[in-house]
Amino acid sequence: MAYVIAEPCIGTKDSACVDACPVDCIHPKKDEAGHGETDQLFIDPVECIDCGACVPVCPVSAIYAGDDLPEVAFYNVGTIDDAIAKGAKLAAEG
Ligand code: SF4
Repeated sequence: MAYVIAEPCIGTKDSACVDACPVDCIHPKKDEAGHGETDQLFIDPVECIDCGACVPVCPVSAIYAGDDLPEVAFYNVGTIDDAIAKGAKLAAEG
């Protein structure tokens, strides 16, 4: 299962994870459509290679391996599945 960005990202949207990701699968980046309107960043679950490089650089410890994430971490954005679907949708929109 891909890594997932959880609720602590809301209102933070630090881009350290974007810079650390070797496959460029975290969206929306600062220069992508929707960045200003989106409360947090999302990982494209199809492109994520589960390397974990984004985890230690996040200043608010918002990124987890999907299997390790408690549902409560998504109380502001819905379920883990909602977050995964949002990441895939943003990636498709470019
Ligand atoms: Fe990118 Fe690796 Fe984080 Fe997946 S786990 S979002 S590939 S840095």
